[in-house]
Amino acid sequence: MVITRFAPSPTGYLHIGGLRTALYSFLWARRNGGKFLFRIEDTDLARNSKEAAEAIVEAFKWVGLAHDGEIVYQSERFDIYKSYVQKLLDAGKAYQCYMSKDELDALRAEQMAKKERTRYDGRYRDFTGTPPAGVEPVIRIKAPLDGQISFIDGVKGEVNFNVKDMLDDFIIARSDGTPTYNFVVTIDDALMGVTEVIRGDDHLSNTPKQIVVYEALGFKVPRFHHVPMILNPEGKKLSKRDGATDVMEYKKEGYLPETLLNFLIRLGWSHGDQEIFSLEEMQAFFDPNDINKSASAYNKEKLLWLNTHYIKTLSAERLIEELKFFGMDISAHIKKVELIDALRERAKTLKEFAVMIEQIIVQPKTYDEGAVAKFLGGDALSVLEAYHKTLVQKGTMNTAGEFEESTKAFLEERGLKLKDIAQAIRIAMVGSSVSPSIFEVLAIIGYSDVLQRIQNLISYKRSTCE
Ligand code: GLU
Repeated sequence: MVITRFAPSPTGYLHIGGLRTALYSFLWARRNGGKFLFRIEDTDLARNSKEAAEAIVEAFKWVGLAHDGEIVYQSERFDIYKSYVQKLLDAGKAYQCYMSKDELDALRAEQMAKKERTRYDGRYRDFTGTPPAGVEPVIRIKAPLDGQISFIDGVKGEVNFNVKDMLDDFIIARSDGTPTYNFVVTIDDALMGVTEVIRGDDHLSNTPKQIVVYEALGFKVPRFHHVPMILNPEGKKLSKRDGATDVMEYKKEGYLPETLLNFLIRLGWSHGDQEIFSLEEMQAFFDPNDINKSASAYNKEKLLWLNTHYIKTLSAERLIEELKFFGMDISAHIKKVELIDALRERAKTLKEFAVMIEQIIVQPKTYDEGAVAKFLGGDALSVLEAYHKTLVQKGTMNTAGEFEESTKAFLEERGLKLKDIAQAIRIAMVGSSVSPSIFEVLAIIGYSDVLQRIQNLISYKRSTCE
């Protein structure tokens, strides 16, 4: 069975790079009928916060990637880690190191002076004497002294680390007894049965250390996939300004979770030249062994384009639900579906969508002065007054077709064209000369409100002429 996991450290919000590896892990587990587990790596009590952990869980809920089982919190597992430290001590695979900070500093300085790699020199590895008084020891693992640590990475292929170049007997428990990062990651991945680790390639240099722990404890080493970074369009590290922000910022900016997941899956993986993927398709096609070897570039236009696609194609019910977050609850509006359909082609984000809806469902409080000057000069006001009268005589009207028919008849009688009145109607309806199809807008606004809005503009124009 394929078991993957997402294991964020709650030092801040959930970042899009983290969400991308979470998505990959989720998809691979689902594709294989496996399990996708969730673990909060909150052992660094000084840097981690409960709020950050909660924010990550909330962001995860928003994008809708369901994990299996309960969330595992590392902060609740110190006893487990301790027992594994003890196991290694008992087996002679780890040992107490009594080197003081001063000694360690002196060793470093000496190595630097000789232009050597700074590393622990193993002086307590086989120590049998009496330990110095007053020093709380750290626990170090006995790492191999030479040779290579190799593994096949699903993205990078064969990876070899020369032990002499990068390893030493690293610390697995500090002098206060708390276990270190690479140790707890390994213990948890092993105990949770994780078979494939998909994570950012900033963790690549941790992997040989983790392999040392797996092997010391006789655990099976999982398969690793180290995913290249997301870069900005200039090929530099993605900054906050480029989009490296909290996943929830995307929600606040009016992106749909579908957009974000679709955007992220393509950042670093492809399936022919397909751009749009439903979650089902992602699950059917995604394979971490096909992740691109090179870093991918963040493309804001693509993100907007995808959002436009999902706004155009998702159900009206779904969009109505999503718009509530932007303070726009139209669930009780009798023309709610028409409203969505009239505007969905024009909105790039839900935030814009909400503003556009507001412009239609709320009577304009102000008018665009430039538009009024341009489109209500000369005869235009009297034409609008005559139009108002014609509509009043109709008694009622419902559909866009009815509004269109009456308007055309009115114009024909006077030898006018739609362009002679369309902008004035728009200004009356939404305050400016920009709106979707005019007759659809009239139908959505509804007969009596349409009359009222035309009357309001007429009164406004009269009062400013006087
Ligand atoms: N907790 C690590 C992080 O947030 C991830 C560890 C891992 O995936 O192995 O970067």
